[in-house]
Amino acid sequence: MPTPERASLAQVYAQVTTRLENAGVPTPGPDADALIAHVMHKTPAEVRTARARGDYLSGAHLDEVEDVVKRRVAREPLQHICGRAPFRTHELRVGPGVFVPRPETEVVAGAAIEAIRAREHSGEVPYAIDLCAGSGAIALALVRETQARVWAVERDVYALEYLRRNVADLTETERSRITVTAGDARTALDSLNGQCDVVVSNPPYIPPGATPLEPEVAHHDPQVALYGLGPDGLEIPRGVARAAARLLSPGGIFVMEHGQEQGEATRALVGDIDAFVSAVTHQDLAGRDRYLVAHTQSG
Ligand code: GLN
Repeated sequence: MPTPERASLAQVYAQVTTRLENAGVPTPGPDADALIAHVMHKTPAEVRTARARGDYLSGAHLDEVEDVVKRRVAREPLQHICGRAPFRTHELRVGPGVFVPRPETEVVAGAAIEAIRAREHSGEVPYAIDLCAGSGAIALALVRETQARVWAVERDVYALEYLRRNVADLTETERSRITVTAGDARTALDSLNGQCDVVVSNPPYIPPGATPLEPEVAHHDPQVALYGLGPDGLEIPRGVARAAARLLSPGGIFVMEHGQEQGEATRALVGDIDAFVSAVTHQDLAGRDRYLVAHTQSG
């Protein structure tokens, strides 16, 4: 069937929402707005206003909407289709092959930001490290929202590509405070041993066999970013915690995201590392156990 010359935004929105709903997309209305906005190079709020005003979409735009809707109906992540993912005060570039940052990780980044801000009062520039940085969600939040000197460690080549692009989007002054390090989080940045104020990480932590239910996660998030290895999924988190113990200065703070069932196990794994003197589990906005904050012995 040939594409009509134009159609009202309200009609397109209604049709797209129904198709997304039928495909099991959890938030069909907001996704319809976001996809239409992406095609029109507008914000979703601008599209909603245009829709209320009775505006129309041209035939060329209708073809493009059809392309992106087909991808979303096949449950490709919205963020991969739009190429952007919001995270705290910024937007990250993401796409096929890279993990999409989650809202719960915004709270984890917030805890690291708070810890850094507490250090800023001392007058010295705090040093902060993001281990398993992915596309840079946490690391960029630290750079933008604090005055810290930040290192972002990542070993996956696809993630590194996005991480570097996201760093390139920062202002020149912000860029001067961040270093991207390609390598294994467990062994990286030996030269900073004992010198860092805050180490933060959202490592892979899903246990083997706990296959994510959402197709967006199961088929589009890279497995290296999901599965933490070992029988409990905590092999990588354990290595990350040891790296944090090595990197942190006395009285340093370690913040690590984990699965909602892993509060006790992550406190125990940190308890096995001599350098740490405390470990407290904190919750995300949905009230689920989500991250651990641990301190190293003060000097
Ligand atoms: N939070 C991810 C998920 O829910 C799991 C992996 C991670 O964030 N480190 O799919």
